[in-house]
Amino acid sequence: VTRWGDLPSRDEATRKLRSGSRDPLLRVEGLCAQFAVKQGLLRRTVGRVRALDGVDLRALRGQSLAVVGEPGAGKTTLARAICRLVPATAGKVLFEGKDLLGMAKPELRSALAQIQLVTAETFSVADPLRALRALSDLTPKVLILDEPFAALADAARLSLFDELRRLRDQHAVTCLLLTQRLELALGLCDEALVLHAGQIVETGATASLVSHPHHPYTRSLLSAQRLAAPVRSEALDSAGPGVSACRFRARCPRAFRRCAEEEPALFAVPGGLSRCFLDDPDAAGQ
Ligand code: SF4
Repeated sequence: VTRWGDLPSRDEATRKLRSGSRDPLLRVEGLCAQFAVKQGLLRRTVGRVRALDGVDLRALRGQSLAVVGEPGAGKTTLARAICRLVPATAGKVLFEGKDLLGMAKPELRSALAQIQLVTAETFSVADPLRALRALSDLTPKVLILDEPFAALADAARLSLFDELRRLRDQHAVTCLLLTQRLELALGLCDEALVLHAGQIVETGATASLVSHPHHPYTRSLLSAQRLAAPVRSEALDSAGPGVSACRFRARCPRAFRRCAEEEPALFAVPGGLSRCFLDDPDAAGQ
């Protein structure tokens, strides 16, 4: 039986295709998106949800990258903001070096024709593999897959996985795989980034994130005993100017005083980054 992790992550053909250019095909820089929270009969705005808050990513031609997080973490908003289906409030989405967010309609239409967003519903139809082949016939340069495995049985998942590998390896399609389950990205995605409350909280090689996660949120995603559901305040921009804290503190089993007083930056960890004070090299032993 083939398991996800047994599959080789990349073959020689892809190495050759990718070695032609080290410029990213898709680069996201500081992407932000906010939604108003409305309440009451008059639908007054009572707050704002930071759906995306300064997200960066880069994907080379033929590279597969996993974006991992719970529902509400910002994965779907990220995909939709890249495709300009929801407005970004700041940042850039550079495709082949040009910013999609600043493009006028005719140029945008032709650029977006090369970026296919595939939602979870596509894979819940009767024959999801036929749906994927139809997409590959369009030969997109970028395929954004939002929870493609969620509705599939194991056999169908493996077939879909093989098809994605074929697209990546034979056609150098760049894949963004959006998933709740980090372990499903093994064997397809070399690198992963973990989103929480609209922020990247950890990045690194997928295998290393699975075997040695640093951030408590990444650990919780991999744990059989999941943490409680996200609390409403995690993504709410309600702390007010000048007040900040770690957004994960309400659910974090390792939270301490500093976590309620400052918002952590991304700190370097072996092979990646982690947005946690426990990884702050200047505060060892806290
Ligand atoms: S900064 Fe504090 S609350 Fe946030 S993840 Fe790290 S230990 Fe937990």
